[in-house]
Amino acid sequence: MSRPSDRSLQEAMRARRQAKPLLTVEELRQREAQRETGRERAETENEAARLVALWRRAGTPVDVVGVLAPPVYRAIFALDRDAYHGSRHWARKAKAQRSAASGCEVERCDERAELTVRHLGQRLLGQEQVGVDLIALCESCARRADRQTRALGRSLSRGEIARLDPHRPLYDPDAIAALKSRYARPLRRSDL
Ligand SMILES: [Zn+2]
Repeated sequence: MSRPSDRSLQEAMRARRQAKPLLTVEELRQREAQRETGRERAETENEAARLVALWRRAGTPVDVVGVLAPPVYRAIFALDRDAYHGSRHWARKAKAQRSAASGCEVERCDERAELTVRHLGQRLLGQEQVGVDLIALCESCARRADRQTRALGRSLSRGEIARLDPHRPLYDPDAIAALKSRYARPLRRSDL
């Protein structure tokens, strides 16, 4: 006949053997890391939402107080592209790209003034490199590039944009005729 304390010890040991294995140190570490990432993501999204709200309410650039971390810029872009393009970060990058390019970057285009800057893909939002992730274009080449992007359903490479034909009419005659017959009335700008 064992003493009560021995019996409770045996029961405790049996319970422990039957229980699910404890987490290893590595599993605990991974869980902690995931919780950290989740919390950081939530903080990034809250920060982006707060800054976008300020931009929408008062037109305040999202980074008026200082440069933001790239994930915050990415979250801002996802929420409101205009807020991203109104940032000081974007103003600096666009200015640098315009002065590096000295003219529209479509090879056969001679336009030197009124350049607009576009992203080549969006992987590096908040960390764009001048001459790598950005391209300076005149208004009509930018519209040609946008049209081509929509037609292909993907973003264009620098080479594809550089090879656009700057002399091709923005709206080709066949497309205009097709639209006219579809609407059976004079075209409005919003049809195109
Ligand atoms: Zn051009």
